Amino acid sequence: MGRRRKTRKVLLRPKKTLPKIFTCPHCGAQLVTVKKTEDGYLVVCGNCGLRHEFEERPGWMPVDYYNAFVDLYLEGKIAPPEKAKSGEAGGGDEAL
Ligand SMILES: [Zn+2]
Repeated sequence: MGRRRKTRKVLLRPKKTLPKIFTCPHCGAQLVTVKKTEDGYLVVCGNCGLRHEFEERPGWMPVDYYNAFVDLYLEGKIAPPEKAKSGEAGGGDEAL
């Protein structure tokens, strides 16, 4: 069979990767992640534990939740847990 498939060069478009890791407004670590949850989005700092859960908003990107997270922090509406050493079990792969 001499059927040759013309190899077409597939133009790989550079994927626009949206940032999902952000800088913590509290401790400055680049460990803030935005995760999808059942009810919305959880924004949490992997370093100091600052976190907030948002309801899902149509059209919002992770960065929007992060921005809202920073605003809440700056307004003093959220604060990191005090000296809460990671005793929480459950799905963390924060290996040190
Ligand atoms: Zn932090």
